[in-house]
Amino acid sequence: MPMKLFETKIIAVSNQKGGVGKTTSAVNIAAYLAVTETPTLLIDMDPQANATSGVGIEVGSYKESIYDVIIGKAKLSDVVQKTDLEFLEIAPSSAQLVGAEIELVSLFSRERMLKEALEDVEGKYKYIIIDSPPSLGLLTINVLTSAHTIVIPIQCEYYALEGLSQLMRTIDMVRGGPNPNLEVEGVLLTMFDGRNNLARQVASDVRGHFHEKVYHAVIPRNVRLSEAPSFGKPIILYDIKSRGCQSYIDLAREVLEREANRRSTQFQAPLS
Ligand code: ATP
Ligand code: MG
Repeated sequence: MPMKLFETKIIAVSNQKGGVGKTTSAVNIAAYLAVTETPTLLIDMDPQANATSGVGIEVGSYKESIYDVIIGKAKLSDVVQKTDLEFLEIAPSSAQLVGAEIELVSLFSRERMLKEALEDVEGKYKYIIIDSPPSLGLLTINVLTSAHTIVIPIQCEYYALEGLSQLMRTIDMVRGGPNPNLEVEGVLLTMFDGRNNLARQVASDVRGHFHEKVYHAVIPRNVRLSEAPSFGKPIILYDIKSRGCQSYIDLAREVLEREANRRSTQFQAPLS
């Protein structure tokens, strides 16, 4: 048994809506944690493998991926790769993962494959951040079954709230089944353009709905954020001065702060 170094916090970044900033958020939260010397694992559970290439790993340059892990053919620690950041490692994805959605159906503990695989790295990282595909299929169910909490990125546009009730129903279903303790970590407003009235209206609707769960940090629409992935770099290694980078730093600090508050109230609970 390897020594358990850390109490690992596992955060899923999920929303079945496509293109809302899941991968950008997962990559950049993970990168900031790593820059603060927090041992972090990023898991890419999307067959599009954008998080993998987003941290500079050439897709397909490895033999085994998270696909082999969740069908039970490889150990998680065997597929993990180093990145340019010393404290950030990644479990890369591959297009084969598309097939896993179907292959998993016949497996006995099909929604728990990722959770079981995670036991292999138990205590090795302080944070595990999981990027999810834009669907509510078995891959996302595996992600939500494995995670302690979920960060929901919401793009500030007209149809932003559409589909969220479906996501909340899925979260409830997972709570009623394989992961009773799953919590919403936070709701993140992404691609915000403050000059746009509609974006401001959407932001205010989201805050009206999710209240204090919505992060103070709001991610602006920022071209540097959209350029960074093509260089295989998190924003902090691409343009630290950009507004996009600063907003992700603010967000990651908020994530750490919420965790510190949670731990201190848990610690005090028996006394009160
Ligand atoms: P998918 O559902 O396909 O996995 P996603 O939810 O992971 O998408 P991203 O890939 O993070 O979304 O973002 C979608 C696109 O928008 C990408 O090209 C990304 O570079 C760009 N993008 C993300 N966030 C921002 C931002 N704040 N400003 C400008 N462009 C952004
Ligand atoms: Mg993505």
